[in-house]
Amino acid sequence: MLTFALRNSLWLLVYLFFISAPLFVLLLGSLPPARDFWTELSIALGYSGLAIMGLQFGLIARFRWVTKPWGEDIIYHFHRRISLIALGLVVAHPLILFVVRPELLALLNFVEAPWRARLAAISTYSLIALIVMALWRVKLRLSYEFWHLTHIILAVVAVAAGLLHMAAWGFYLNDPLKRALWCGLTLFWLSLLLYVRLVKPLFMLRRPYRVTRVKAERGDTTTLVMKPEGHTGFRFTPGQFGWLTLWNGPFKITGHPFSFSSSAEVKDGRVEMSVRNLGDFTAKISQVAAGQRVYLDGPYGAFTIGHPADMHVLIAGGIGITPMMSIVRTLADRGDKRPVVLIYGGGDWDSLTFREELEALRARLDLTLVYVLARPHDSWTGEKGFINAGILRRHLPPPFDMHEYFICGPNVMMDAVENALSGMGVPMVKYHTERYNFA
Ligand SMILES: Cc1cc2nc3c(=O)[nH]c(=O)nc-3n(C[C@H](O)[C@H](O)[C@H](O)COP(=O)(O)OP(=O)(O)OC[C@H]3O[C@@H](n4cnc5c(N)ncnc54)[C@H](O)[C@@H]3O)c2cc1C
Repeated sequence: MLTFALRNSLWLLVYLFFISAPLFVLLLGSLPPARDFWTELSIALGYSGLAIMGLQFGLIARFRWVTKPWGEDIIYHFHRRISLIALGLVVAHPLILFVVRPELLALLNFVEAPWRARLAAISTYSLIALIVMALWRVKLRLSYEFWHLTHIILAVVAVAAGLLHMAAWGFYLNDPLKRALWCGLTLFWLSLLLYVRLVKPLFMLRRPYRVTRVKAERGDTTTLVMKPEGHTGFRFTPGQFGWLTLWNGPFKITGHPFSFSSSAEVKDGRVEMSVRNLGDFTAKISQVAAGQRVYLDGPYGAFTIGHPADMHVLIAGGIGITPMMSIVRTLADRGDKRPVVLIYGGGDWDSLTFREELEALRARLDLTLVYVLARPHDSWTGEKGFINAGILRRHLPPPFDMHEYFICGPNVMMDAVENALSGMGVPMVKYHTERYNFA
């Protein structure tokens, strides 16, 4: 528990250093003549907002050493929240200036304002558009692919225009050393984007996969079995996921994340992903032909098993069963007999993906299966409705805080289970989550 807290605090300190150091560097060396407090504060807020915005490229650059301690879903959540703070800082910068120096309001006239002010407007409006589209993407009926592309473009414009505005305004950046630092920093942020969009895809291009089998599963789900072509592939730990690119090459802007559903003990590099038909991309998966070339980027995620002594409680809702399948298949292949309880919520009996294989796995594992059906048939005698504290208490032996919990499913289910566990006295360090919706 202590190492967990220590590690997370260290990462936070590193993050704080990266966003605050560029600001404090401005105070080194010779300083321009001091101005009033509010002007200086507003400038500091602007610089801080830009530093936070720039570092966002690092958060989503899929560096394993950045995401591993937390898990991708937490990092994306942080990315979204922190961008609201960046927006607050960036907007506060001109607002304070307009209050203390009302004559600057004239700069709002985009046509007549000098370029150094226009650049500030371009940066701020891009950031506002970016945040509005991210917060209300679904309400605005924007497709994920369109939103993703415009998100990247707006982010680059906001950061580049922000830096150009600072450089053109001068003052602190009149010092060549400080100007070089901020330009270098911006280039570094943009190079992180190039890494994800160019370097990584080039690497993936040299390490393609081939679909060897397409399996129809219960619950409108299709499993793709993929083998590395001309390379040995990668090893993953059960519960992790990868980004799949189909049909277009690896340079396609939007890849789709899917958990590996196969055993991590498979030695020939083969990986399986089981995909439920939930939208335009996933609807086409069942039409994939064997022999299709695909690209995989992975493995990612911190949703993995450990602590062999503890009982493992796997709580899955719907297609959230895929990482659990990888976990139980791997345990079976390892001959690992730790007690496992799988609580599996789904619509009806016929749509429970992997139902038959789970029953068969009982013979190879110390596995207890609890199905929870939202729409049970008349003769169903098992659990009904949605997974809740009552069901957990009925099927798990106390003390509840001695087990390791793994939860994956729709957001509403995950929120309900997390609340239930907290009510049962299970500390957060004992449960692990994988959210299929980064939003
Ligand atoms: C870590 C992780 C693991 C996942 N594992 C599985 C799995 O094993 N099996 C499975 O069936 N599904 C899994 N999903 C969900 C799957 O990625 C989405 O259902 C799929 O990308 C939807 O694409 P679509 O175009 O068919 O649907 P759309 O209708 O375009 O999207 C539906 C929703 O899915 C999300 N989404 C869409 N595209 C992406 C994308 N490229 N990246 C991130 N989110 C996106 C958005 O929130 C969107 O609103 C996983 C998601 C995550 C984040």
